[in-house]
Amino acid sequence: MGELERLLTANAAYAAARANVADPRPSRRLAVLTCIDARIDVFAALGLHLGEAHVLRNAGGRITDDVLRSLALSSHVLGVDTVVVMQHTKCGLARVTDRELQDLTGADLGFFPIDDHAAALREDIELLTTKPYLEPVKVVAGFVYDVESGELIDVVRWERRS
Ligand SMILES: [Zn+2]
Repeated sequence: MGELERLLTANAAYAAARANVADPRPSRRLAVLTCIDARIDVFAALGLHLGEAHVLRNAGGRITDDVLRSLALSSHVLGVDTVVVMQHTKCGLARVTDRELQDLTGADLGFFPIDDHAAALREDIELLTTKPYLEPVKVVAGFVYDVESGELIDVVRWERRS
């Protein structure tokens, strides 16, 4: 069976058994940004269930314009007030340079490489918390997920002063 057939077959079983969530607003008012890394099961790692959180993913779990676009909607339209940025150990974006990634991929893009997780998280949280349009966001945290132990390292916390 090809990959796409495998997906369609799995979907038939899923659709027959799934629980329906009617409300598009995440019930825990939470958005989680993390890396695309296949070793991270966001829902299981954080004890989340369907309907509880927005999950945004990109290479590295970095704050990009597209993440800001999504969070503007999450916060203003769908009630999100807490954002978790979750980087992880053994990330392909760690300890490489933009130049190396450009050479590797042939893509003339900014890849947001990570030199140091704590510094990158602080930088991303600074970006996020200084956008005037993200005023509905009240709490932000920066975590590092250990892909070997499954444990979270609590690196940065931020809370809006009212
Ligand atoms: Zn990664």
